[in-house]
Formats: sequence, C-alpha cells, structure tokens
Amino acid sequence: MKNFELVALPYAADALEPIIGKQTVDIHHGKHLQTYVNNLNGLLPGSGLEELSLEELVVKAEGAILNNAGQILNHNLYFTQFTAPRAENKPVGKLAEAIDKVFGSLEAFQAEFEKKGTGLFGSGWVWLSKTNDGGLVITQEPNAANPLQRGLTPLLTFDVWEHAYYLDYQNKRADYLHALWALVDWTEVERRFTQI
Ligand code: MN
Repeated sequence: MKNFELVALPYAADALEPIIGKQTVDIHHGKHLQTYVNNLNGLLPGSGLEELSLEELVVKAEGAILNNAGQILNHNLYFTQFTAPRAENKPVGKLAEAIDKVFGSLEAFQAEFEKKGTGLFGSGWVWLSKTNDGGLVITQEPNAANPLQRGLTPLLTFDVWEHAYYLDYQNKRADYLHALWALVDWTEVERRFTQI
C-alpha cells in the first residue's frame, strides 16, 4: 500500500516574494495541499484504486477520491512550475515557438490566459495544455478538474481558488494573475511540453 506524499517545493517558502508571500506558501502548500494528501491517503484503502497514479486517478476515480487526487495533481504542477521572480521572464525553446504560432505573441497568450483566469466563476484553475497534434489550448477547469480529463497534456496552471491569493491580493484576482508571470519557470513548462 503506497501513500502519496506532499510534493517538495523546489525553492524556499519565501523565494516567491513579493509576488506570493511566505505566509501564503506556508498555508497553501503546508496546510491546504497537505490536507488533500491526507484525505486521499485516508480514502484509498479498500477502494480498489490503491495502485493507481494521480494521473490515473483523475481520469478513473469519482467523488471524494477524484476531488482530492485532482487537487493534489493540480497543486503539484502549480508549485513546481515557479521560481524566484525574474524581470523580462519569457518562454524558451519549442514552447516559445508554439506560443507565438498559436496565439500570435507572448503578450496575446498572456492576455487570453489572464482573461480566462479572471472570468472563471468561483473556484478552479486556468490551464495551458498541449493538444494531441502538438498544439496549445487554454482551458478553464472548475474546482479540482484537470485537462487530462479532456485528453490534454497539462503544462502550466494558475490556481484561482481564493486561498491562492487572498492574503496577498485580497479580492483582486486579476492583479494576482498578472503578477504570476514573473514567477513562471519556463524551462520546467517547456520540459512538460517536449516530454514524450
Ligand atoms: Mn490551491
């Protein structure tokens, strides 16, 4: 019987300041995400789904197992896609080429991504994903949903649940989304885009 573990942050808890404060990281990663991990580990025994990966659970499970597995996978992708703030932070490699091809420019892509994140009603996630033909698409996913459920490969995500931004931005979700670009580790996102 395996247990899922809290993903390790690839940076210090205060490394994302001032875009995301240490208190937000401590609570979001150490409390919210830890709770989803604990919940899933408590739900799996006897479910018949004990041997599945998070990716398999989000396409095969239902109910509370699906919701907790989805939140863990989503947060793992979210927390491991950031690095300390950088000015002039831009995509690299084949992903940069694909963004220009699909959206016209980085600025047009970012504007569309922010618009979809701001416009998502309630709690959820805005995603950039790779399509089966190697293209790119932005989707809004409610609650704990993940683009894997649509047959897409998730690359980049901004969490728009209030716990992700309320301490730093209060109700100003659009400001949070706009600021997050400085934190994106485009090398990691490009790795997700080019991996087989
Ligand atoms: Mn969250």
